[in-house]
Amino acid sequence: MAGRLAVGTLLVGVLSLLLKYLAYRVTGSVAVYSDALESLVNLAAAGGMALAVWYAARPPDESHPFGHTKAEYLSAVVEGVLVVLAAAAILRSAWLRFAEPAAPSSPEAGLSVLLLAALLNGGWGLVLIRRGRALASAALEADGLHLLADTATTLGVMLGVFLAWRTGLYWIDPLFALLVAGHVLGLGVGIVRRSVGGLLDEALGPAERARVEAAVREAMGGALEVHDLRTRRAGARAFVELHLVVPGAMRVEEAHAIATRIEEAVQRALPGAWVTVHVEPEGEAQHRGIRPARDHPPGRAR
Ligand code: ZN
Ligand code: ZN
Repeated sequence: MAGRLAVGTLLVGVLSLLLKYLAYRVTGSVAVYSDALESLVNLAAAGGMALAVWYAARPPDESHPFGHTKAEYLSAVVEGVLVVLAAAAILRSAWLRFAEPAAPSSPEAGLSVLLLAALLNGGWGLVLIRRGRALASAALEADGLHLLADTATTLGVMLGVFLAWRTGLYWIDPLFALLVAGHVLGLGVGIVRRSVGGLLDEALGPAERARVEAAVREAMGGALEVHDLRTRRAGARAFVELHLVVPGAMRVEEAHAIATRIEEAVQRALPGAWVTVHVEPEGEAQHRGIRPARDHPPGRAR
């Protein structure tokens, strides 16, 4: 099902790109040109992301023992470059058109073709949102919302062509192209910000951190304290590290059982997470950090 939806999204993307390019050739409008470029960037980004997700899912191997999940950030770098190139191309053509304003040619034909592209994108966006809600897939729903935003861009571009055509104020066309360039740059900033955070091993957000702490507190019965809890993310996978303080005389077997319980609890709270526990005797206690939810007598660890 998800595979068929992905193929549909690809087909809709290619078709609406062709329609927008056709509309650009018909009208010569730079606003339509910028809308077509945005579609091209979106399509390349979706392709790059699909490739990255496929590569990121490869299991760890000898030369990549932590897995390949950071591959996502490589595709983000490519997307960032594409966005900058597209924005530069739009700015250049808008600049030239401001210098030499021109009337859109065959606006009726161009607007009809654009309307077709908008209906296609908007219709498929609604399908994705409905399926996303039915399947409880936030990613699918986000794809649908993105398509609706693109539809709004196309409708805005149509308005620009219409106004330039009817009022004779031809500078309206490059002005709308500049608005699209701003939208494209905004997309790029979002992509780059997310991947820079991942590359710099940014900690998990407060909501995820709270889920991890609650899971640790519930599962650490028999231990004295957890400190130096560190989190980071590599693409789809979260990593959690922590120090577990247990009574110095506790048997290794018992301490290992507690560590395993904590690992499993964190993995339930953050599916797919990799958890590493470092065990310490009570002399290492820092008397801060996470305490057990209830006071378990140490003997109950098993
Ligand atoms: Zn420690
Ligand atoms: Zn173990």
